[in-house]
Amino acid sequence: MTTFSYNFDTEVFRQKVSFPTGIFINNEFRKGSDATEIDVINPTTGKTITKVSEATKADVDDAVRAARKAFQTVWGLNMPGSDRSRLLGKLADLMEAHSDELAALEALDNGKTFGWAKTVDVTAAIECIRYYAGWADKVHGKTIETSEAKLAYTRHEPIGVAGQIIPWNFPLLMMTWKIGPALATGCAVVLKPSEFTPLSALRMCSLIQEAGFPAGVVNVVVGYGSTTGQAIAEHMDIDKVAFTGSTLVGRKIQEAAAKSNLKNVTLELGGKSPNIIFDDADLEQAVNWAAFGIFWNHGQACCAGSRIFVQEGIYDKFLEAFTKKALEIKLGDPFKQGSYQGPQVSQIQYDRIMAYIQSGKEQGAQVHVGGERFGTEGYWIKPTIFTNTTPDMKIVREEIFGPVGVVIKFQDEEDVVRQANDTTYGLAAAVFSQNITRALKVAHRLQAGTAWINCYNQIHCQVPFGGYKQSGVGRELGEYALENYTAVKAVHVNLGHTI
Ligand code: NAD
Repeated sequence: MTTFSYNFDTEVFRQKVSFPTGIFINNEFRKGSDATEIDVINPTTGKTITKVSEATKADVDDAVRAARKAFQTVWGLNMPGSDRSRLLGKLADLMEAHSDELAALEALDNGKTFGWAKTVDVTAAIECIRYYAGWADKVHGKTIETSEAKLAYTRHEPIGVAGQIIPWNFPLLMMTWKIGPALATGCAVVLKPSEFTPLSALRMCSLIQEAGFPAGVVNVVVGYGSTTGQAIAEHMDIDKVAFTGSTLVGRKIQEAAAKSNLKNVTLELGGKSPNIIFDDADLEQAVNWAAFGIFWNHGQACCAGSRIFVQEGIYDKFLEAFTKKALEIKLGDPFKQGSYQGPQVSQIQYDRIMAYIQSGKEQGAQVHVGGERFGTEGYWIKPTIFTNTTPDMKIVREEIFGPVGVVIKFQDEEDVVRQANDTTYGLAAAVFSQNITRALKVAHRLQAGTAWINCYNQIHCQVPFGGYKQSGVGRELGEYALENYTAVKAVHVNLGHTI
């Protein structure tokens, strides 16, 4: 076991934070079996904050054994839902008591601002755990009337051990989207945070311990995707894998599941979401939401509104106001009051986004705003808007996952629906119009798991979230997520039928 210790001495948060780190198995922290470590980098400066233990394949095996044992002895069907509910509720209370600390860890590790982390990530993470605490004693099957000679009913049994692999863009929130429904239904968990942002997940381990979860119910293994992540995806004793990340890796997860034990798979993947603004939209609101849609979280949101379609009648006006908005975005220290945008998460992401910007220029698009780095250290990129694009350009087709949007002119409903759906992705979409009939008609024609009308990036733990096409398989959040972690058993009881 090692200890993370950091003295936050910032404008918005002043506190010394210390907690144990390591591979978390059976409610204990330990070193990885190879004793190797992963550098945790502060994206604001590019400097190393700390090192954390790397989990090997052998550690994943240990974690799965611990989870299986807990599932079979103290968790799963061995603990009533009302008791699981109480534990989840306690965890939510503890998160609330440590919410500033959790927000500070997100800001330090990911680069998002403390303010956004506190008001969105941590708040929504607590709500999510509390919401699933409410479900834990409400998961049940049905009786089905077939004939008077038979009693038929279903049981929604926990699926078993769930492997959960999450990304770096909302480290804490993604953890709660995963563990909330899994623990509510009685599954035991082996979770792998992103190697880029492990700190909040490790802090959660102590809170899980403190809440009183039995040993082995939640196990956290920090490690790289191609080793630790792959070991989860291909494990023969994991019953289900839930993955959030890129479409590229999602494909690998599904392949590993198919080649191993055909484990149940849910995937939350990438996107290239259209944001459609009709000429009868409230222009000021459309501009504000469009900026929030693409620039919030530095564009590192799976449902980022990266393709902004504007009807020709208001195109020039929109572009002028949107440009002004982009230029007003305050980039700055995530721990300073008023900062809106921090750095991108890593050197790799910085390079990837800059390569997309370069490709846009080379393919003939026009950098209308931004397109360059900000500051001299860390991984900062200015909010960027491209115009004069063509549908074949990489910046129009591929997920950039940075503060880079393309603004595209369209003529009418038919034209924009065709262009919006011309993508392999289908995560989210938005329509701005004051004509509600038109907005609804268009929203229904868009191939996306979420459609927003006159807003953007609105996600709530009670409402399902997931992708059409190559943006995912299955739905998270809401009642729908419970299905990911339960297996339905049909029981037929003979009440007098003879043979
Ligand atoms: P990523 O796919 O590179 O990594 C995601 C996770 O998978 C990480 O924990 C990583 O270590 C692990 N991983 C990598 N290779 C693996 C392998 N071969 N086997 C098993 N695990 C492996 O994605 P990222 O860069 O961390 O996150 C960005 C991506 O996530 C974007 O494409 C974004 O759209 C997507 N995302 C989707 C949602 C959603 O809900 N649909 C939410 C957030 C992010």
